[in-house]
Amino acid sequence: MPRDPRHDVLFEPLRVGPKTLRNRFYQVPHCTGFGVQKPGSQARYRATKAEGGWAAVCTEYCAVSPDSDETPFISARLWDDDDLRALALMCDEVHGHGALAGVELHHSGVHCPRREYRLPAVAPSQLASDYLLVTPKAMELADIRRVQADWAAAARRARDAGFDVVYVYGAHSYLPMQFLSPFYNRRTDEYGGSFENRARFWLELLELTREAVDGSCAVVSRIAVDALGPYGVELEEGLAFVRAADHLVDLWDVNVGSAVEWSKDSGPSRFFPQGHQLEWTSRVREATAKPIVGVSRLTDPDRMAELVRGGVWDVIGAARPSIADPFLPRKIEEGRLDEIRECIGCNICIPKADPGGNIGCTQNATAGEEFRRGWHPERFEPAGNAERDVLVVGAGPAGMECAVVLGKRGFRRVHLVDAEAEIGGIMRWVPRLPGRGEWARVVNWRRIQLDKLANLEVITETRLSPEAVRAYGADLVVVATGAFWSPVGLNRETHDPIAGADASLAHVLTPEQVMVEGKSPPGERVAVYDCDGYFMGPDLAEQLAVAGFRVDLVTSLEDVAPFAHETLEQALLKRRLHESGVRLHRGVVLERVEPGLVSGRGEFGEPYELETDAVVLVTQRVSDEALYLELAADGERLRAEGIEAVYRIGDCVAPQLIADAIFDGHRLAREIDADDPAVPLPWRRERIALTG
Ligand code: ADP
Ligand code: SF4
Repeated sequence: MPRDPRHDVLFEPLRVGPKTLRNRFYQVPHCTGFGVQKPGSQARYRATKAEGGWAAVCTEYCAVSPDSDETPFISARLWDDDDLRALALMCDEVHGHGALAGVELHHSGVHCPRREYRLPAVAPSQLASDYLLVTPKAMELADIRRVQADWAAAARRARDAGFDVVYVYGAHSYLPMQFLSPFYNRRTDEYGGSFENRARFWLELLELTREAVDGSCAVVSRIAVDALGPYGVELEEGLAFVRAADHLVDLWDVNVGSAVEWSKDSGPSRFFPQGHQLEWTSRVREATAKPIVGVSRLTDPDRMAELVRGGVWDVIGAARPSIADPFLPRKIEEGRLDEIRECIGCNICIPKADPGGNIGCTQNATAGEEFRRGWHPERFEPAGNAERDVLVVGAGPAGMECAVVLGKRGFRRVHLVDAEAEIGGIMRWVPRLPGRGEWARVVNWRRIQLDKLANLEVITETRLSPEAVRAYGADLVVVATGAFWSPVGLNRETHDPIAGADASLAHVLTPEQVMVEGKSPPGERVAVYDCDGYFMGPDLAEQLAVAGFRVDLVTSLEDVAPFAHETLEQALLKRRLHESGVRLHRGVVLERVEPGLVSGRGEFGEPYELETDAVVLVTQRVSDEALYLELAADGERLRAEGIEAVYRIGDCVAPQLIADAIFDGHRLAREIDADDPAVPLPWRRERIALTG
């Protein structure tokens, strides 16, 4: 398919200082868990995006000096020449695919955990961090000069490593913004007080960086033009800084938010639509003559082209859309729009990368596996046993993903069979929870892939018994039957069901009963009991409140939805619940459910009672493993029917994140021709070589 002429504007080259972007797609800095510790993973991960058509790809935050040691988080570093060599590998691989390599030089100032460094954080003033439990040293003039010198030295190393783009990074209320912001800067010397004084540190950094790279690299500055809270500057002052620094910058990378309000930058789709940052960042044009790159989880090429054509931004920046689909630019260029694997805005990539993890993505199982497992997002090896017929039972996220990869690996016949009329498993109904609509993209992309594969057949409304599986005629069987919410309140606190909790009763409900079966709580009052700690409890509570129930969210955990803190949703969920009139009860363990009442104990064992007409049990999920266990128990009968092996994947192994269920399905399909596909192959581990 040729490219749609409406998208031509996205493929025009653009000069940024001494360098040229080959098109308008730019991977802005984002974390991976690789830093300089895993140079091979870093290089291959970024290079895969370069291959996918991005004009520039950048590192994650790259500390210029040890007092910006991010441990336990993994950042890149340019403290010495070993760091330089680690990142030079990335530059080489990225250049091999014709893209520019960028480095996010940064110093986090007061927001620095320093678990490796151990000495004090430094900041403009001695004011405790509103983000971490840190009280810094107020920088003396010598500290200012030293950090500036470290920045210039890091910029020189960046140039020598081969980077084309060097950042002076001022977003996320890091050190340059801490100087600019009166919230952090209470100095009375030439670096504090007036706007000119507060801007001085950042302007000097820009000058020093330009000097250091000496015309060999483009100098980019990222600025949160509005912190959307008291933590940085507001829009007018953000624009004033852009005007003041414009002569020193080759490209402005613009966003909103702060370290504390990161959720407003990397906005989860639960609360923010695509393009939400434009309300602020579209104003930057009035302050600069230089090119602008902006972000806002854009995956729609029409919208991207409209922004560039309209002159709002010059370049489309992306972190998450590039993680979910490293080949997004190539697919737009080749007119393969239906192939774009759109980011769902779940933010699982954040806890996967931080702290010290390995980046992963719900939509893209290969993210972070390019080097260590050798997985390519678009290339699939023909399977050594491709002449087999494979039956996949269950078309949830795990089963769909596994079937797609088996199809792409060229198996003779793959049948994906599901009991229900629609494919999707839990993703048939999770996207109907408040604000979760974009999550339906998990099914949409896979449905298109399934449709395109000639060797793949999807069969719905067919519940397979063990006998039916054995008689199916398959050589290989993959069971992906998922999991269900415990109907008796099995939970992490007691490891037992809750007395009186039985979802066959009218006043006891499970999430599936509410969402799929249409079971409605009797009466007006309903308690949602959440021991799960992620989205299901709060989402159901909001949904029931909006439907008119008086809702109490009772959680056994210390806080509401602690895992959602890691996906940047927790504070927003709590606010939404508060606004919906949902009453929150924390640290409560329920021990009994009876008509009209739930009871248990509070944080210190004190008795707890709540009058309610019904309770929804969001306690834990239980694997639907009966089919697998019965099949696996009788190897002889399997062999008699010509079945070589039965595997299981996804939630029917253990209830897990959607991202992990998909990963599990993908992993099995990638390794199904290994000696023992049930056991993952070892991956390449990056270690320090003990030579010399
Ligand atoms: P996962 O997240 O592991 O993919 P889900 O719970 O989302 O799991 O999906 C499991 C799917 O398996 C559901 O769509 C369900 O209808 C289907 N399923 C469960 N048991 C059977 C069976 N015996 N035969 C066919 N389909 C089944
Ligand atoms: Fe998007 Fe979720 Fe993937 Fe992150 S994990 S890139 S938010 S789909």
